[in-house]
Formats: sequence, C-alpha cells, structure tokens
Amino acid sequence: MKPQLILLGAPGSGKGTQAKRLVKEFGYGHISTGDLLRAEIAKNSELGNKVKSIMEAGNLVDDMTVLELLNANCDLATNAYIFDGFPRNGEQSKLLEEHVLKGTATKAVYFKIDFEVLIERITNRRLAPKSGEIYNLISKAPKVAGKCDVSGEDLIHRDDDKEEVVRNRIDVFKKTIEPVLDYYKSLGNLVEIDASGSADTVFGELVKIVNK
Ligand code: ADP
Ligand code: AMP
Repeated sequence: MKPQLILLGAPGSGKGTQAKRLVKEFGYGHISTGDLLRAEIAKNSELGNKVKSIMEAGNLVDDMTVLELLNANCDLATNAYIFDGFPRNGEQSKLLEEHVLKGTATKAVYFKIDFEVLIERITNRRLAPKSGEIYNLISKAPKVAGKCDVSGEDLIHRDDDKEEVVRNRIDVFKKTIEPVLDYYKSLGNLVEIDASGSADTVFGELVKIVNK
C-alpha cells in the first residue's frame, strides 16, 4: 500500500507539477487546497466570497475553513492522496493528523529550494484551468503562446502570482513552515528533497520515496 504523501514547500517549489506526475504514475488522488479554494471563488459560493480578498493578498485562510473543504474532498478508505498546500502551519498539521490521517502511513516531503528562484518561477507560471496543465514561460513554455498544448484552452496568469503578492506569500511561508517541519520530524515522517533540479530529477527522487 502506497503511503499518503504530504508535499511541503514554498509557493513555486514545484509541488503541483510533481503531484500531477505522481497521480499519473501511481494513481494517487490529488488534493490541492489552493485549487479547492479557487474553485469556490469561481463558483461564487459563500465560502468563495469569504476567502477571495484573503487569497488575493496572499494571506492564509482560516484553518477550520480549509480543513472542512479538504475533508469533504477526500476519502482515505478508497484511495491514497497527495496533500498539496496543506498543512501550512503547526495547527493544520495536528488537524490533518487528528481528523483525516488518523495514524495512516504517511510521508511528508519537504521541497527545499533557494527562495530567490521562486519569484522567477511563479511570475512566469501560466495555468490551464480545465486540463490542469502547469506551464512556465522560461522552463516549460506552451507550443503555441497563451494556449494549452493538451486542451487548446487559453492559459491564465493567477492574480496572486504577481510579484508583490508572491513576495508576501513567500514571507507567510517563511513565518509558518518551521512548526510543520518540526511536527513531521517528531513523527519520523519527514524527508527532504532538493527541489532546484529539473522536474525529471525531482520526480526521480519522489519515485524512490514512494517505493521505499
Ligand atoms: P507549486 O505548486 O509548489 O506552487 P508549481 O508546480 O506550480 O509550484 O511550479 C511553479 C512554476 O515553476 C511553474 O511555472 C512550473 O512550470 C515551474 N517549475 C516546476 N518545477 C520546476 C523545476 N523543477 N524546474 C523549473 N521550473 C519548474
Ligand atoms: P496555493 O495554490 O497553494 O499557492 O495557495 C493559494 C492561496 O490559497 C494561499 O495563498 C492561501 O491564501 C490559500 N490557501 C491554500 N491552502 C491553504 C491552507 N492550507 N491554509 C490556508 N490558506 C490556504
């Protein structure tokens, strides 16, 4: 049985890119709390309206709101999951363990990377909302500018991927991640990988971790 995987890392460290590949390779379910929250905003739901301005500023949404959304979108009895973007602070780590994982075999992988690299990665990120493909104008450009290679849809530039918001998101990450890493270290579940290599190299590391 493959372990539940928790991908920890700063915005732009490559979690979404690798999650997509892991889903294809191993059949994981993929839970990105950022994607779930953006879907609520797109639906114009009450929850979406509540979190919109918080996300636009690059701050964290409250823990219980995100936990409830996550819990409603995964069922550990039927699948193993990749948790991408949750937990973001010490409290969320405990909530995830107590309310969702409940002792299930888990590996937390920290995507270690120099923060300077992230601004360039994120400001050049372009996304295909329907197909879920992730592009980068420098390292993974689409074949036709502005269009998804897979679906042909228009690519979007996330509002919170603008440089000033990205800087705040990275600051928030720096202020909140230590207790998360300490939590998984204390459980003996933490593995660190070098996230600065090519997407193929990073994927190779992750495959080894899943198969170990
Ligand atoms: P996260 O989900 O951690 O925020 P993404 O997977 O969306 O990060 O990656 C951020 C940006 O960096 C995207 O434009 C993606 O194409 C690019 N990227 C991801 N992994 C790498 C890598 N190993 N090398 C260079 N660019 C990468
Ligand atoms: P992401 O897609 O992971 O880059 O997240 C985008 C934004 O969604 C973040 O800047 C937060 O505003 C919000 N968000 C995503 N996941 C969480 C979480 N676990 N806790 C609080 N806010 C979150």
